[in-house]
Amino acid sequence: MPAKRPNNPARELLFGDLWEYDPAPETAPAHIAPRYDLFINGQFTAPKSKKWFDSISPGNEQKVSEIALANEADVNAAFAAATAAFSKWSKTSGAERGKYLYRIARLLQDRAREFAVAETIDGGKPIRESRDFDVPVAAAHFFYHAGWADKLAYAAPGRTLAPLGVVGQIIPWNFPLLMLAWKIAPALACGNTVILKPAETTSVTAMKFCSILQDAGLPPGVVNIVTGAGDTGTNIIHHPAAAKIAFTGSTAIGKFIQRTLAGTDKRLTLELGGKAANIVFEDAPIDQAVEGIVNGIFFNQGHVCCAGSRLLVQESVADEVLRKLKMRLRHLRVGDPLDKNTDIGAINSRKQLEKIQELVKSGVQEGAEIHQPACKLPKRGFYFAPTLFSNVSLSHRIAREEIFGPVLSILTFRTPEEAVEKANNTPYGLSAGVWTDKGSRILKMSTELKAGVVWANTYNKFDPASPFGGYKESGFGREGGKQGLLDYAQIV
Ligand code: NAP
Ligand code: MG
Repeated sequence: MPAKRPNNPARELLFGDLWEYDPAPETAPAHIAPRYDLFINGQFTAPKSKKWFDSISPGNEQKVSEIALANEADVNAAFAAATAAFSKWSKTSGAERGKYLYRIARLLQDRAREFAVAETIDGGKPIRESRDFDVPVAAAHFFYHAGWADKLAYAAPGRTLAPLGVVGQIIPWNFPLLMLAWKIAPALACGNTVILKPAETTSVTAMKFCSILQDAGLPPGVVNIVTGAGDTGTNIIHHPAAAKIAFTGSTAIGKFIQRTLAGTDKRLTLELGGKAANIVFEDAPIDQAVEGIVNGIFFNQGHVCCAGSRLLVQESVADEVLRKLKMRLRHLRVGDPLDKNTDIGAINSRKQLEKIQELVKSGVQEGAEIHQPACKLPKRGFYFAPTLFSNVSLSHRIAREEIFGPVLSILTFRTPEEAVEKANNTPYGLSAGVWTDKGSRILKMSTELKAGVVWANTYNKFDPASPFGGYKESGFGREGGKQGLLDYAQIV
């Protein structure tokens, strides 16, 4: 028997550059058109603005496609189409609406690989994630809501649910196709018609999705997709025909939209930012917790609203957790998003990369201790090494502001009360994680943490049947489940 050697880092198998993985690029064609027009009234329509802008691949900075820039006249045309379509669609039976949703889900599954490759090229996320998470979960949302369409009476027993009308939907760039599915599926299930605006940097899969709508035979005008920049979104929220605005994005823009809609009869749901606490107690299975911490913050380069970006670790196990995390980080592979070996892909845009760099600099200046593994970043494209900060205090910017990148701030606590106090000490309230062996502690923490979702001994798990949404500056309204459905209907 070899002598027991606790804390023996030599047990780590690290070969540096000696035995590199061979590249394993995904080669399936993405079928991305060189140019995309707007999708209005069931047709691809050239923008009245006569302007297009480039979408680039953050992985290599190459141009992917040209995207139409919708101006006010284009947004008006989309609302006219959606308003005309509403009279018929809202009277279409639930069973019939469900068939379209089911067809969309099946067609998305049929073309899953192509959509995954396109998502990775346009947005920079690792192919493993778009293939195993974004696209299948997007299809799952259509399947789930296909099931609800003819059962709305069961969502509010004894009452009748009616659609709201034309709904304006604005989504961010971190899960482009998935956020589209979260928005469009419940809206259609309830009989609404839709104008959706993707984020400026990630419109490609939304435009490819329009061809699925055509193949599914969805009646013209039920879904309209207008691409563009922030102004396009502003035109949507101002439009008098919008019965509801559903927004997912930053808290700053969410506040602007809330101010703009104040005093109108438009409904509003806001899914905004977060600064989640992932809390590790000393009785937690530490190796599993380390995996959960890594998944919580490095999944999708940390471009996740519910990312576990603040690690709260009990003081007695803090050294062990930090040591294991540092070791684990050395094995994360950063690079070409299309490579199936890649764990951390490209940062979505230069602007986002600069925001991450600025906040990381502030962390160093304010006195936190930075840890980054030695890793070679590709020369072209936007990349950032996975980063840990220890000795973080609650007043540091990196503990308060949403970084939306692969950066984890580590704080410690001694008692469960202190953990709750620190976890809730944030303007946000979207999600949290608890790692412990005690079921009673999980129940207690989940009631005391002011967060829309609390994961226990796991992190970043999603299901269309489970409502998702926040408290405080993380917004209001839910997506998924019965609660999400009710946000797209009125009870009459
Ligand atoms: P963002 O800047 O707020 O943009 C979100 C969307 O709003 C984009 O389509 C954007 O268009 C549009 N927009 C920008 N200015 C607008 C305006 N004045 N009026 C109307 N629309 C406008 O957010 P982001 O940087 O793309 O996304 C990251 C944020 O989203 C993070 O804070 C993250 O936490 C949050 N998020 C939340 C959830 C959730 O479920 N709670 C999920 C994912 C992301 P352009 O792209 O053309 O500027
Ligand atoms: Mg792009």
